[in-house]
Amino acid sequence: MVPPRAPSFWDAHGSPVPGLPAGEAGLRPYGDVHRSPGVVPSYSPGVSEAAQFEPEPWGDDPRLVEVLGSQGAAGFRTLLDGFPEAVGVLWAIRDEGDSIVDFAFGYGNPAMLRGFRLPAETRDKYTLLEALAPMRGSNAFAAYVEVCDTGRAFVNEVHYDTPFGDGYMLGTFHHRVAKLGDGIVVFLHDVTEERRMQSELKAYADVVAHDLSAPLSGIALLVTALELRPGEPPSAEILQELRATTGRARGLIDGVLDYARSGELTRDRVALQDVMTEVCADLRAELDDAGASLVVGELPDVEGDPRQLRRVLQNLVANAVKFRSERPLEIEVSAQRGSREWVVSVRDNGIGIGREDAGHVFDMFSRVTPNVDGTGIGLAICRRVVEAHGGHIWVESADGGGSVFRFTLPAGDETRE
Ligand code: ADP
Repeated sequence: MVPPRAPSFWDAHGSPVPGLPAGEAGLRPYGDVHRSPGVVPSYSPGVSEAAQFEPEPWGDDPRLVEVLGSQGAAGFRTLLDGFPEAVGVLWAIRDEGDSIVDFAFGYGNPAMLRGFRLPAETRDKYTLLEALAPMRGSNAFAAYVEVCDTGRAFVNEVHYDTPFGDGYMLGTFHHRVAKLGDGIVVFLHDVTEERRMQSELKAYADVVAHDLSAPLSGIALLVTALELRPGEPPSAEILQELRATTGRARGLIDGVLDYARSGELTRDRVALQDVMTEVCADLRAELDDAGASLVVGELPDVEGDPRQLRRVLQNLVANAVKFRSERPLEIEVSAQRGSREWVVSVRDNGIGIGREDAGHVFDMFSRVTPNVDGTGIGLAICRRVVEAHGGHIWVESADGGGSVFRFTLPAGDETRE
């Protein structure tokens, strides 16, 4: 039985859907996918979550024995059972004219079964095209057929976000396929995190080019003006504008540095209740200015990095203040215990987030409310910290308006080594 995942995305109608990750279902070659950081799914199964699904082995594969002999098949399995990449063997299914029409599952190593949550019955229950519908008629299927028919290996990069039999494939993979008997061996090396970092770095380069060049041009103009009128001081207005733009540049640089560091964690027992008390103290002035009522429920102790978890709560509460509506601001921080994890919620009655924006506010530099000051980095940091802890983060609409940000953290009592 595949344990349900917490909702991490909104469906086409904007409702959070439990059990499935964000994004458009399908199978796409790399290049289509990373147009912007927003396209990379905001959910990726963390190591701790993958570890929670302990796959049953698929049992002996008679065709592997046919091709490699019983000793060879045993050696092959021993080698690949411990292999860190996902590896699968598929056998050709041919029609009367000897053309390959589909593939049957032969062997899947534990990394494959665990990574995609594939139950043992997958092998007998599905063919490849039944399990992975987007493969039908795809270039990838044609490439599999070609590898099997010609023996020429095939390498590409592919992004999956699709059901796979009774499991689910999600992520970007370096995909290598070679011939084995009348079938193929598929190696999938997970590069999701690297690609996300790359696309975020690219977005950073774009933002740096755009946002940092504006204040620099402003400074250059001012210097020219000063050179032309050495006796005349620059106007207060221009100086104020310069201060604001250089402040924004500084905020961007600090934010990107914070983001870069937010994946590095220390591990401690963290009392979230105490962390929240510190957050309240730090944000006291802002909360008072906004006339906010902040209700903090009972929060658990978890395993994690106290500084980084504080950053998450601080960002979420500060955002609740920043994106408040005309109504008197009410913020509520609470936690519920799930079967294996804590779900921490920060609820506000502010301006809320449109359904169409809910999926990408966690992306680097993503800003939905441009008239309010900010860099669009805060929620990206929250996501990075939460995922580094093995959890996930998402946003829902609050009843009666406003937003509820929720994030999960593995329940420390089960994850402690
Ligand atoms: P910043 O606050 O610097 O713009 P964030 O990454 O913290 O960047 O937030 C990204 C965007 O998400 C914000 O620009 C805003 O549009 C939206 N947002 C974040 N928190 C809230 C909230 N509590 N209510 C409404 N919108 C929010």
